[in-house]
Amino acid sequence: MSGFSTDGIVLKRIEYGDNDLIVTFFTTAMGRVSVIAKNAKKSVKRFAGALEPFSVMNLECTWPRRKNALPLLNAVDLSYPFAKIRTHTVKTGYACYWLELINSSIEEGKKQGELYELLFFVLQALDADTMDKEILSLLFQIRFMNLSGLCPDLTSCGTCSTPLDGMAQHRIIFDFAQGCLVCDRCAKGAVRHGITVTKGTLKQLSWINNTDLRRADRIRFSPCAVREGERLLESFIPCHLGREVNSLTFLRRIREAG
Ligand SMILES: [Zn+2]
Repeated sequence: MSGFSTDGIVLKRIEYGDNDLIVTFFTTAMGRVSVIAKNAKKSVKRFAGALEPFSVMNLECTWPRRKNALPLLNAVDLSYPFAKIRTHTVKTGYACYWLELINSSIEEGKKQGELYELLFFVLQALDADTMDKEILSLLFQIRFMNLSGLCPDLTSCGTCSTPLDGMAQHRIIFDFAQGCLVCDRCAKGAVRHGITVTKGTLKQLSWINNTDLRRADRIRFSPCAVREGERLLESFIPCHLGREVNSLTFLRRIREAG
């Protein structure tokens, strides 16, 4: 019976029957793949507790004999358990939010190397504390949107194309419905569903969107820019997706409590 082997990040797991788990992975070879782990709830030894959200591992599977059945997970070799995320409530909140965005947007069986690299980068930095979690989330969100083809242009007015530096005002309107910046001249008279963001924050967001990931830790955001970036991206993404993002509601709640 033929099978496949690939590296993958656990996106989610659900219980199936009394003994089995259905685990959805974001894999390097095939994008999103759901597999069935037989007896995973009973036989702790076989998967050694590896099948937890955001764990990274190599997995070996067998293709099913029946059409429409899920591949069978035979063995895993855990590479990064990211235990420091799991034991920290706010870090877990951020990681769950990123996982939900990925899980809801990637296609089954379609390889997405850059997106995989991005998710792996932010999880690793979150686990190792090499960057602030708030900044990592801005980095993830803006690059996620870019790679998903949703990225708004944060460098010029979406109506008249005036560049950011050519706008007289300090705070610029970001229009949620149109998904773009609107300069004061174009905004006149119209009621808009959006927020205003300072030029400095917009430039920093563009920088983390375009820079090499390995240089991303050089960015410094002021607390005010972090809050503005958070407000912009965490409002725009659900608005653009057209639905609530459950894990974002959870993240906001624990962030406020902490
Ligand atoms: Zn304009």
